[in-house]
Amino acid sequence: MEKFELTILGCGSAKPTLRHNPSSQILNVRDKLFMIDCGEGTQLQLCHNGLTFTRLNHVFISHLHGDHWFGLPGLISTMNLYNRTAELHIHSPHGLEEMMKPIMDYCNYDMSYQVFFHEFDTLEPTRIFEDRTLTVTTIPLKHRVPCCGFLFREKEGLRHIRREMIDAYEIPIAYINNIKAGADFVLPDGEVISNERLTTPPSKVHSYAYCSDTVFRPQIAEQVRGVDLLYHEATYAAEDDNRAVKHFHSTTVQAAEIARLAEVGKLVIGHFSARYTNDQQLLDEAKAVFPNTVLANENLRVTIDD
Ligand SMILES: [Zn+2]
Ligand SMILES: [Zn+2]
Repeated sequence: MEKFELTILGCGSAKPTLRHNPSSQILNVRDKLFMIDCGEGTQLQLCHNGLTFTRLNHVFISHLHGDHWFGLPGLISTMNLYNRTAELHIHSPHGLEEMMKPIMDYCNYDMSYQVFFHEFDTLEPTRIFEDRTLTVTTIPLKHRVPCCGFLFREKEGLRHIRREMIDAYEIPIAYINNIKAGADFVLPDGEVISNERLTTPPSKVHSYAYCSDTVFRPQIAEQVRGVDLLYHEATYAAEDDNRAVKHFHSTTVQAAEIARLAEVGKLVIGHFSARYTNDQQLLDEAKAVFPNTVLANENLRVTIDD
């Protein structure tokens, strides 16, 4: 089974508490690490979870509130102390490079590696990253500043060739890639061996959507329909829905309603306000609307393995 695992590094909101760190997560896709948001303390949380800095090449920042990016100066500096050589790519709404460049120029004058900033508009869903196995698309959110979530979607892989068939029909190596892509194989006497006999289906592809910070926005459900895993902010309890509107955040029930509308596989709620000391109440409220909900918590790992 190919790895597709989310690790929560922080799931609090802007005011510091002793219970939660500010927002940050790692999505591990086949042992490539993708960071989503980078609040203060993120690099310590990476160490705590045994996650290797060298496997991390892309960081996605949802918006420029400090609880989502103040960990970046420390992380970038530490990578320099370790003499990193690989490029680091940071994807964010406009404005981050303008703030980060003076910090980096002042503190890290002898950088061992290059940092590239890729900035985007937050109003339309936009594909901002793609590699051989995965795409990342922005999810427009509605918050006090330009903000978007991220939809990680694995690409359909190639079919798996059956080893014994290669041996049985003495299939030359030159034909293997075509067969993995769906081609039949023709024997020298003209007999056609169908692709279904030669291969098994590709591995199941997985998807993950991250939505923080935002007011209740039903359009999100359309874009994240059917994802295996959804993280949606639930800053406030249901009874504080007026506060949620005022501060451009969501309640537990609203987060669960997005999950229900989108028919996702599993919901993780997070970005909890410092005002609550009983997370169980938050979970109960969400579960009443969408039963397959779990509370985010520091160091929680959620693996998608079906
Ligand atoms: Zn926040
Ligand atoms: Zn915010």
